[in-house]
Amino acid sequence: MVKKISIGVIGVQGAVSEHIASMKNALRETKANGEVFVIKHKDEINEIDAILFPGGESTTISKILYKSGFHDAISKRIKENTLPIMGTCAGCVILASDLKDTKKDVTLLSAINMQVQRNAFGRQRESFEKYIDIKGFTDPYNAVFIRAPVINKVWGNCKVLAKVNNRIIMVKQGNILALSFHPELTGDLRVHRYFIDML
Ligand code: GLN
Repeated sequence: MVKKISIGVIGVQGAVSEHIASMKNALRETKANGEVFVIKHKDEINEIDAILFPGGESTTISKILYKSGFHDAISKRIKENTLPIMGTCAGCVILASDLKDTKKDVTLLSAINMQVQRNAFGRQRESFEKYIDIKGFTDPYNAVFIRAPVINKVWGNCKVLAKVNNRIIMVKQGNILALSFHPELTGDLRVHRYFIDML
């Protein structure tokens, strides 16, 4: 029997239940054998096959990750290159190696060779939806941006997968995927499926 894929979700803030539902549906669609659950204790980080960071407020999330010991446990697995990660919106911010302007507010995981700018499209009322082209996807994808960051620049082995208005909003580096929009809010499971295909 194929091993069960165990996907942990950081449950600090944001659309956690929507992400869990999307990931479970995506697993079902791909016929993958897997489970998806909120991580409660840092020791679980050593046992999971993949991790998902929902959106929220990157300052708050990173503080809680740091205090709970999650940050160090995740960092260790990133260094060993054994933990596939998908980070959306605030999750994308935390995966960065560098931030433009607001460096001291967020403890970064430095998982991807990218510099991120928080709230780059403006505040809440500047939130928007837009059909974007994602590398490898046949049809456009309706992306929801909520106080979204942009990826200002990338270097090394970080690959750009999508842009909006010529600004980078989705990248992949090895087994780590980061996007500045919310794929859990539309019912289109292609981004979650893309991540499952990376496992
Ligand atoms: N603006 C938030 C931040 O920078 C991200 C917003 C979101 O995750 N929807 O932390």
